[in-house]
Amino acid sequence: MTAKVSESDPDLDLDLAVELVNTVYALAAPPDRLTNTGAYQHILREARQDALADELTPADLPALRELRDSIAPLFAATDLTSASTLLNPLLSDAALVPQLATTDDGAHWVLSTGLHGLAALRARLLGALAAHLVRHGTARLGVCQAAPCTCAFVDRSRARTRRYCCDQCNDRAAATAYRRRRT
Ligand SMILES: [Zn+2]
Repeated sequence: MTAKVSESDPDLDLDLAVELVNTVYALAAPPDRLTNTGAYQHILREARQDALADELTPADLPALRELRDSIAPLFAATDLTSASTLLNPLLSDAALVPQLATTDDGAHWVLSTGLHGLAALRARLLGALAAHLVRHGTARLGVCQAAPCTCAFVDRSRARTRRYCCDQCNDRAAATAYRRRRT
């Protein structure tokens, strides 16, 4: 059975967390794209999460920014103790009620049952981050090493050697290293 994109999917939700954090990109002008909810609604629609995008309203902007700023440090956490210290208060504040959802493939946790809009988004992103940390620890979550960029990424490379958020940052870092070698 293929997963329906409209349903909560931990990999997709983790990517949505990354995309939320990366609405701040140091090299963009201006660096912060999240000056209205439309910027993130666009990201949700690109990920075929139209229902969730439709439920966000302009009044959600402060909470959306707060969610972004609260999950961003998780990508810099280097051990599970510090990651848990960051994530547990967020899970606690969200007062999530896990429900077991069953499919033909088995069962999985759903944290957003009965929630809508920002509350559903918060539940899905926090749930995806928690599930990822349980499964993989902090090794695959990272922050771009090409200063001044501080974008987040999930390292899905086989060798777990990813250091940059995107090809542009990779190229920029390579060019900087090349210049350094020549001087
Ligand atoms: Zn970067």
